[in-house]
Amino acid sequence: MKIGVPKEIKNNENRVGMTPAGVYELTKNNHKVYVQKGAGLGSGFFDEDYEEVGAIILDTIGEVYASAEMIVKVKEPIEVEYDLIQPHHVVFTYFHFASSEPLTKAMLKSKAVCIAYETVEDEDGSLPLLTPMSEVAGRMAIQQGAKFLEKPIKGRGVLLGGVPGVPPGKVLVLGAGTVGIQAAKMAAGLGAHVTIMDINMKQLRYVNDVMPNHVVTEFSSEFNIRNRIKDHDLIVGGVLIKGAKAPKLITRDMLKDMRPGTVIVDVAVDQGGCIETTKATTHENPTYIIDDVVHYCVANMPGAVPYTSTLALTNVTLPYVLRLANQGWEVACAKDQSLRKGINIANGKIIYEEIAEAFNWSV
Ligand code: NAD
Repeated sequence: MKIGVPKEIKNNENRVGMTPAGVYELTKNNHKVYVQKGAGLGSGFFDEDYEEVGAIILDTIGEVYASAEMIVKVKEPIEVEYDLIQPHHVVFTYFHFASSEPLTKAMLKSKAVCIAYETVEDEDGSLPLLTPMSEVAGRMAIQQGAKFLEKPIKGRGVLLGGVPGVPPGKVLVLGAGTVGIQAAKMAAGLGAHVTIMDINMKQLRYVNDVMPNHVVTEFSSEFNIRNRIKDHDLIVGGVLIKGAKAPKLITRDMLKDMRPGTVIVDVAVDQGGCIETTKATTHENPTYIIDDVVHYCVANMPGAVPYTSTLALTNVTLPYVLRLANQGWEVACAKDQSLRKGINIANGKIIYEEIAEAFNWSV
């Protein structure tokens, strides 16, 4: 199969859909891989790295789309790419269709097969192509939180690990899923005192079993959250109710109970956030302050660490890319239920019904 890897053109997106290691596997399987010039630069991969493993470097995005049968990328196509996508294309990327009617209409019109990373779903309901980005964001939450706790950037001036003779800082993590566990682990590694909350007792039992003693689990309730926010320095929001807006666990009136300079990192911002005062920010301008509480609400946290994020993403996408290339999308999806769930649009029709529901269309 002919596979194309275009350069991401969405603002500030430095990840790339395939690493040289991925190209190596594909060319070894007798596939042709076309990589757009400079596509990997933001993630630390040079054109020569791709060429060495058999990729053909093309100058323009138009040439990549024109040469390929399958396109492997990271973010959803943006408007200038719409006309490049043709009926013979399989496009494998994050689409998030439900949040963009114009994109959905454009892909229907293209008659291409659109397989979305975010809806590939394992039997146990987990989303294997989303998990690595939650892992990155959960770990980053502590790194960012620790930074914004510094006084010159309006934080409380607390060093999370403390020092001999001075107690460590306190971190409250809301949600003990992928983001929450990774955040708790990083905070614990720094020596902070960590409280992690969830409503799922199974998750809390797991965390209790695997974490060190300075990570304390507590059932998530309004009463318990109100109690904890009074003396915690950093609060990480990592809750998710699948397919729904995040519940507002911290309301505006609760901010006044926090100490000035407390930092909130609301990772759940992409689902509306679990803090009432959350509004999405960018890496250029990541924080704002309300009632002396620092809010960090960057919606694409992994974008700040493209090298790690690209490797983490392509580790999990590559096996699917290989199957799609080796077997063709119809056979690969027929054989693999997880991958089949990824088909959102095919041949001008919506396959993933939730998309139609999001726009109140009938399928
Ligand atoms: P997950 O499903 O693994 O975990 C969510 C956890 O929240 C679950 O354990 C669930 O039981 C818990 N929960 C639900 N309601 C709760 C409540 N009332 N109180 C406490 N816990 C509750 O999800 P995840 O992969 O950890 O993702 C969390 C959020 O982070 C999602 O919204 C995801 O989209 C987002 N995310 C954001 C970024 C970013 O860049 N901002 C990156 C990756 C993921």
